[in-house]
Amino acid sequence: MSAKRPITIIGGGLAGLTLGIGLRQRSIPVTVWEAGHYPRHRVCGEFISGRGQETLARLGLRERLVAAGAIPARTTAFFSPRASSPVRELPEPALSISRHALDALLAEEFRRLGGDLREAERWRGEEYSEGMVRATGRRLQPVVDGWRWFGLKVHARNVPLAADLEMHLSASGYVGISRLQNGEVNICGLFRRFTSAADAPLPWLETLRGAPGSLRYERLANAVFDENSFCSVAGLSLAPQRASVSKECCVGDTLTMIPPVTGNGMSMAFESAELAAAPLAAYSSGEMTWTEAQQLIARQCDERFMRRLAWARMLQRLMFMSRLQNTLVPLVPRWQWLWRLLLARTR
Ligand SMILES: Cc1cc2nc3c(=O)[nH]c(=O)nc-3n(C[C@H](O)[C@H](O)[C@H](O)COP(=O)(O)OP(=O)(O)OC[C@H]3O[C@@H](n4cnc5c(N)ncnc54)[C@H](O)[C@@H]3O)c2cc1C
Repeated sequence: MSAKRPITIIGGGLAGLTLGIGLRQRSIPVTVWEAGHYPRHRVCGEFISGRGQETLARLGLRERLVAAGAIPARTTAFFSPRASSPVRELPEPALSISRHALDALLAEEFRRLGGDLREAERWRGEEYSEGMVRATGRRLQPVVDGWRWFGLKVHARNVPLAADLEMHLSASGYVGISRLQNGEVNICGLFRRFTSAADAPLPWLETLRGAPGSLRYERLANAVFDENSFCSVAGLSLAPQRASVSKECCVGDTLTMIPPVTGNGMSMAFESAELAAAPLAAYSSGEMTWTEAQQLIARQCDERFMRRLAWARMLQRLMFMSRLQNTLVPLVPRWQWLWRLLLARTR
């Protein structure tokens, strides 16, 4: 039997490591290059919602996440600066786990399966040649239509919540506050700022807390922040991208980003990795050419994600219409059909 062709994955985040695990489960030689180290905090609402949970279960990872401290999130509520929605049950529970624990767990599993993880090593090549997968996370876009998009995250204690996930909207962005294990909460926001205002530095704590007098500010009034968990990210591009226009083999955010309000980005990272594993295995064993494998992965990802991305984009636009927020927030979750439709279409 001829030797299997090796696969090199650039980026050891969720998509790269999940793909690495899927390939190692098929005994394919895999190297993952990761510029950072494990464990580390990442900007993320840490709320896994959607079909990615099924991928985790199929890879035998879901139970390990639960053992590592993942907890179910069953309810959600929405808030504008002055109005709140009723608490709503999610049709399927989400899973909440700190990225500090999650990324490290996947790295450990990849290594346990015999994967070669080159931690703290940045790949500096220009071209992605045959056998190389790009899983480097978001594609940097400093300004989109005059706006700079950025994300902030911190963990805190002493934050009483009405639901497992509270989503707080404001004119400058939205902040999710969700329960983690051991009484901690994740506070994570997506914000935008017009470029003319971008020179003055923004204090992260004030940005996350929101305007004095708002419901978000009240919610965080007695929060005890874990400053070591604070992290930020900028240059986000949230417009949907088609995988089939790229000549590279991509998974996760590199393929396309979905607005974080859906809590579906991690799920898409897991799902795209799973979609990529079988064609890459076929390439590795010589049953497919590299181009055939790359095109099949791109086509499957487009089929799976394009509708989801279009709905998420529309929802994201609505979230930033500040004049509508006080009216829509109490209403939308009351309309059961609309609530269920939005959840179904964005995951
Ligand atoms: C504000 C915000 C909130 C979010 N909240 C949620 C949420 O609640 N639920 C959810 O499901 N999703 C959420 N997401 C999205 C989620 O975080 C991403 O979709 C997910 O992390 C994508 O995984 P990835 O592996 O593609 O990218 P990443 O996790 O970013 O991993 C990419 C990795 O590649 C490495 N890398 C990059 N370049 C190189 C190189 N040249 N050489 C070596 N390594 C390299 C990086 O160091 C990084 O570790 C949120 C995103 C934002 C911005």
